[in-house]
Amino acid sequence: MTYNKNNIFAKIIRREADAEIIYENDHVLCFNDIFPKSKIHVLIIPKNEYLNIYDFSKNASIHEKESIFLAFETLIDLFKLDKKGCRIITNHEIDGRQEVPHLHFHFLGGQDLGTMINI
Ligand code: AMP
Repeated sequence: MTYNKNNIFAKIIRREADAEIIYENDHVLCFNDIFPKSKIHVLIIPKNEYLNIYDFSKNASIHEKESIFLAFETLIDLFKLDKKGCRIITNHEIDGRQEVPHLHFHFLGGQDLGTMINI
């Protein structure tokens, strides 16, 4: 699969589509999921074009990778979830049921999130 510049997250990065931005740094954008699955549901995405976690793991720079972890830390601090906890998930391709073809991490919290997989 090649990267499609018209995917919705690419439009959000270019500010061609609206989003409720929670946090941003040089390499990362964080915004509320439009259909939240929990009280807190933020999406964390790299600003550069990466299809999925495999593409990112293979091709992203150390700075881009570091920035993702900085975003995790910042969101945990922002929502004060250090002790209560949260869940960070990325869906990858077909079995992971990835819908938007731009890497994103789901940051879920604000409630008991139940068991991890419910097939
Ligand atoms: P995934 O199934 O992992 O690809 O998840 C895609 C996520 O993107 C879903 O949770 C959607 O609710 C979310 N989503 C789709 N369009 C938008 C949008 N315009 N703004 C914010 N979140 C979106």
